[in-house]
Amino acid sequence: MKNTICFDDVLLQPQFSDILSRSEIDLSVKIGRGFKLDIPIISSPMDTVTSSEMTTSISKMGGLGIIHRYNSISEQSDLVREAIDDGASRVGAAIGVSGDYLDRAANLVAAGARIICVDIAHGHHAMMRYALETLKNTYGSAIHFMAGNVATLEAFNALSDWGADSIRVGIGGGSICSTRVHTGHGTPTLQSIIDCSSSDRDSVMIADGGIRTSGDIVKALAAGADCVMLGSLLAGTNESPGEIVYFDGHANKVYRGMASKDAQIEWRGHTASIEGVSTTVAIKGAASDVISELVTGIRSGLSYSGARTILEMQAKSKFIKQTHAGSIESSTHINMK
Ligand code: IMP
Repeated sequence: MKNTICFDDVLLQPQFSDILSRSEIDLSVKIGRGFKLDIPIISSPMDTVTSSEMTTSISKMGGLGIIHRYNSISEQSDLVREAIDDGASRVGAAIGVSGDYLDRAANLVAAGARIICVDIAHGHHAMMRYALETLKNTYGSAIHFMAGNVATLEAFNALSDWGADSIRVGIGGGSICSTRVHTGHGTPTLQSIIDCSSSDRDSVMIADGGIRTSGDIVKALAAGADCVMLGSLLAGTNESPGEIVYFDGHANKVYRGMASKDAQIEWRGHTASIEGVSTTVAIKGAASDVISELVTGIRSGLSYSGARTILEMQAKSKFIKQTHAGSIESSTHINMK
């Protein structure tokens, strides 16, 4: 049986650095089809994370937002238009692989989306193949197709061969995810990244699910991801959709898995397999502040590896395993009063 590792199992060994300032570090990443991100951060297509405000804000920071699909085609198309009016230079939007998804794609493209994310829980699937091949035949290379999620090298290569320009890697690791509990299936996200990093295909790899800190982002990038997708880290910001709810005088927003009972009942009126939970998170303020703090942490991370670019870090990085005791030492462990 294969041994697998997750984020807390490893650390990156510090290395000689001649970087004098974090500003020397370039975090840009080419995601293909003419798209370049200035920071390797993408927001999740979830109804409590990304609509037009998040897309605009993250685009202005140099990242990418993927507008969720849990609404009508006209509502989602309006969100795309809104983000482009408000100044988002790149806008992504999600679709599924059944029902009206081709019509949805056509409307989103007409509204100005140039990145279409084919967004399903188990991406290594015949329906994904049909969807990607149909979309590719329809739009050629005019549109960037993101697809996922997958957990294995075999699946990564398959989606790449079916036409995916970028691939979301990670199954069962999301903070609101109960897929592993419910189905017994999944792979630690960092392990999936390591496995898929040996692919000889040129699709962009997006680490998705279970990223809690800038340290996790640095580990994901060092292991071979080109960028990361964030849900919980961006939930509860001013730009994430949802009403503010108060508990004991503290402001919160809902953050929920799209396969949670609450989300399914709201978007399709009934539940199928429940593979997520719904919760609330404390309000964090502006997404731009949260992203700035993450970017500062990522730059510091590259500096500890003596690397000025993500590619340089991937070439230089040295992972070491840590024990459970090491992982306790690695997190702040003073008794806080
Ligand atoms: P987080 O950043 O750890 O909160 O994970 C966010 C990711 O979880 C998303 O980008 C999706 O890939 C995944 N996800 C969203 N909703 C669900 C769900 O209901 N069940 C399982 N995974 C989910």
